[in-house]
Amino acid sequence: MTQLQELTQKAEAALAPHFRRVDAIARFNTEKVMEAFREERVSEGMFAPSSGYGYDDRGRETLDRIYARVFGAEAAIVRHSIACGTHALTIGLFALLRPGDVLLAVTGKPYDTLDEVIGVTGIPGCGSLKDFGVDYDEVALLPDGTPDYEGIARALDKHGGRVKVAFIQRSKGYMDRPTLTVSQIGEMAAFIKARSSAHVMVDNCYGEFTEEREPTEVGADLIVGSLIKNPGGGIAESGGYLAGKRELVELCGWRLTSPGEGTEVGATLGQTKPMYKGLFFAPHVVAQAIKTAHFAAYIFDGLGYGTEPAWDTPRSDIIQAVRCGSADTLVAFCRGIQAGSPVDSFVTCEPWQMPGYTDPVVMAAGTFTQGSSLELSADGPIRPPYLAYLQGGLTYESGVIGVLSAAQAVLEQTKK
Ligand SMILES: *Cc1c(COP(=O)(O)O)cnc(C)c1O
Repeated sequence: MTQLQELTQKAEAALAPHFRRVDAIARFNTEKVMEAFREERVSEGMFAPSSGYGYDDRGRETLDRIYARVFGAEAAIVRHSIACGTHALTIGLFALLRPGDVLLAVTGKPYDTLDEVIGVTGIPGCGSLKDFGVDYDEVALLPDGTPDYEGIARALDKHGGRVKVAFIQRSKGYMDRPTLTVSQIGEMAAFIKARSSAHVMVDNCYGEFTEEREPTEVGADLIVGSLIKNPGGGIAESGGYLAGKRELVELCGWRLTSPGEGTEVGATLGQTKPMYKGLFFAPHVVAQAIKTAHFAAYIFDGLGYGTEPAWDTPRSDIIQAVRCGSADTLVAFCRGIQAGSPVDSFVTCEPWQMPGYTDPVVMAAGTFTQGSSLELSADGPIRPPYLAYLQGGLTYESGVIGVLSAAQAVLEQTKK
């Protein structure tokens, strides 16, 4: 047996109890989704496309209510026309913040693509929050990756009631830090609300259905995510959502279209069915991705690479970081994932300067839906410690094939 075959056998034996936990969460969340479908009496007519203004599109209105139910929120907006997660987050931020307000990031620097939205970087006058007179401040996580409660209290005091939005990023994103659990987010929300009137907004990208509860069930006022990640189930062709308190979701609707029209317009153009079907599949597909992540952690740990989280750690997002240690190994890793993908397996990944990102990024995405990261994909910014962020896997079986292809590529590269 080769080293990888041996590791694979050991992995599957060691991971069995963890996979049982993952299956139980998938079952719980599937029950939530099915119950929402039944309560809202989903029927085939709702999948019909609307055109023009899209007035009275029952499928669209019902899906908004289904998302609200599933996420334990008062209201939600789900649209195929939200271009990506950054767009959804931009809608939420501009919906809630007004000139003179402060946006306080309480889990350190937000995801790279938000830099230009906030106005930390980018072209002055582009229409960032900064251009509109919204101030920004951040409190880093402590070195062990937990929230800095003293720092948050100090920042809230310093701005004296001007903090309108306290921003939490659930997933590690492109940061070398642990992902926050839903219960940690609940504690943070309670802490912030005891000291201020700030709305707690959570970037929920990559987190949906990894646990039994979502941040809106533990005190978050608004959660935001992308449909080409978890809740799209690998089936939605594009889109994003915002869910939370009714009054905040209403503001988001006005920002999405226009004040007055809000969520009452928006043709669905035939995209409704994949969004329903995707949500139906999402808990299961997220479980496939999480199993793939556990497996990858086991294999790369066995090959001597640092992994975050460790192979036996329960998950709160679908991301698996592998510390590649050099640019060459990171690139080999991504090339191996690409070669082990169902689409574009013959393509060779090269680092490139992506719009919205600070460092060059190398990406592997042999996906059916462009850039979908619920499908097996890997990326990493070319900067020390050269972390590869692996995520997705529509099926565990194909995930294993992809991970082993990456492991093989790394073994060959490091032999050189
Ligand atoms: C993916 C992601 C985003 C942005 O999403 P895009 O769809 O790439 O615009 C924001 N935050 C986190 C944590 C993410 O993982």
